[in-house]
Amino acid sequence: MSISDRLTAIQKTIATTARNCDRDPATIQLVAVSKYHSIASIEEAIIAGHRNFGENYIQEAAKKWQLLSDRANFHFIGHIQSNKAKLAAEMFSLVETVDRYKLARSLNNHLEKLGRSLDILIQVNIGQDPNKSGILPQEAAPLLEKISTLSRLRPRGLMTIPPQSESAEGSRVHFKNLRTLGTDLASRKLFTDNNKVDLSMGMSRDFKVAIEEGATIIRIGTAIFGQRKEFVK
Ligand SMILES: *Cc1c(COP(=O)(O)O)cnc(C)c1O
Repeated sequence: MSISDRLTAIQKTIATTARNCDRDPATIQLVAVSKYHSIASIEEAIIAGHRNFGENYIQEAAKKWQLLSDRANFHFIGHIQSNKAKLAAEMFSLVETVDRYKLARSLNNHLEKLGRSLDILIQVNIGQDPNKSGILPQEAAPLLEKISTLSRLRPRGLMTIPPQSESAEGSRVHFKNLRTLGTDLASRKLFTDNNKVDLSMGMSRDFKVAIEEGATIIRIGTAIFGQRKEFVK
């Protein structure tokens, strides 16, 4: 199957899954995770009408951004070192992986110089898995309180990668917990729009479960682009 055919098939699955749980498919944004995939593959997706891509590595993203930013939006979904915050502040439409104040402050400083604002998500280690990055659930509120003093950042919601499990169903409890945390933080008015909190959760293997549990952003790589090969320099 071509990238275009796979995108069509996934959009169809998103729509069906959403309708089956009484959700409007238009409230679910598909991010095509293009890390390790070529410029040509991304262009194929753009030609098929897709716009939102996810990247994990700043250097790789920079190359793609330079060539494609007039036709595509990029989300950052990887770990950012604070010393790469300048590029991140410049390139991305959404940084999904803010998990510490130092990084938030560094992004904010660069955004001030660039004269722009940036939508962000807080990455939460919802399964409290020692192998996963993200802030612990109980630390999300204090972090958001500190971020509220940074005028260039707009916290839109939460992102998570659940612990590995045997089946997609294993992710359900973690997705449910992320949604509950989002609702709690919204009731404390910690987001930019507390009536519309984004939940970025669900990947190729478990995105249907994520949609059932309220995902508004799903991040799909393999099911669109195939197996990842190597770093694109
Ligand atoms: C690589 C990656 C994805 C995509 O995973 P697939 O299993 O290929 O769909 C989604 N989210 C994050 C944070 C990733 O690093």
